Formats: sequence, structure tokens, C-alpha cells
Amino acid sequence: MERKVNKSEDEWKAELSTEQFKVLRLKDTELPFTGEYNDHKEKGTYKCAGCGAILFSSETKYDSGCGWPAFFDEMGDNIEKELDLSHGMRRIEVLCKNCGGHLGHLFDDGPQPTGIRYCINSVSIKFEKDS
Ligand code: FE
Repeated sequence: MERKVNKSEDEWKAELSTEQFKVLRLKDTELPFTGEYNDHKEKGTYKCAGCGAILFSSETKYDSGCGWPAFFDEMGDNIEKELDLSHGMRRIEVLCKNCGGHLGHLFDDGPQPTGIRYCINSVSIKFEKDS
């Protein structure tokens, strides 16, 4: 897949924190209820921690109780979805289309109007407050 942001794994390693690298590039998952944005309620925009692409708005963030930031919709057109059959499960992986970074997974237990839940690692995103 052709990416707008294309970096080698060495370049990513140099500019991301260890935790960011593990999740964004190696598809790891942060422990539940530990992430910076799990309980975060400020108004603003969540961008990709790897490349800065706009991903989610605080308007669609809700408390799912799952232990990770949850959104019922995406913002803009920078989200990619892919079938993930790892760990003996059948899930939809959520990635940043711009840089290929792993963000989290998509589930069908979200609130209306979409009925879906984007379950996202805090370390994969960066919050920017509304000015
Ligand atoms: Fe990105």
C-alpha cells in the first residue's frame, strides 16, 4: 500500500517513544485503563501520533468502559480498516491511512448513530485542544 508518509522502521524508532513504536509499528496494545486519553474529555482533535493526520474529534468520544479511548465515528478520511485474524480472533484493525500506523480495533457495539466503536490506543494519538 502506497503511503503519503513512508519511513523505514529505523526512522520511526528514532522519532517515536518506545511505547509509541511498539503500538504504532509493531501493533502492540497498551494496557487497559493506563492510557493518557482514556478519561480525557477536553474539546479538540485527536491526530495520529506518528504523522499528525487528523483522525477523531472529541465530539464523537464517549465512555465505553473498555479501558481505552473510544469513538463512535472518525473525522476526515485518514482511517484505514483491515481484517485482523491474529491472536485467534476475527477483528477489524484500525490504521492511519497516511503512515500505516496501528491505532486499535473497530467493534460493532458502539452507540447510535453509527453503532460502532473505534477502540484506540492512547499512545497512537495526540490531542490538540480547540483554540
Ligand atoms: Fe499516521
